[in-house]
Amino acid sequence: MTKICTRCLLKDFSKEKYEAIVINGLSSLPKEDLVDKAESGRRLSLCSSCDKLNQGTCLACGCFVEIRAALVKGICPYGKW
Ligand code: SF4
Repeated sequence: MTKICTRCLLKDFSKEKYEAIVINGLSSLPKEDLVDKAESGRRLSLCSSCDKLNQGTCLACGCFVEIRAALVKGICPYGKW
């Protein structure tokens, strides 16, 4: 059963969805399009304390934040990172 967690990242409440959407999605992209783990972690820590985060999705842009935060060209629509 999927746990509902409003302020959680996808990896925190659905391992299956995290692997299917985030891991598989990011693995299909060129490495040069991705930031390093330190930067994506910094970005995601800001998302984790943001009131726009809802079950891994940003309510401001509709993206899965774990994907957006991993992209070199990814931006926060509210300028938080
Ligand atoms: S991308 Fe920005 S607005 Fe969206 S959840 Fe993360 S910090 Fe909040």
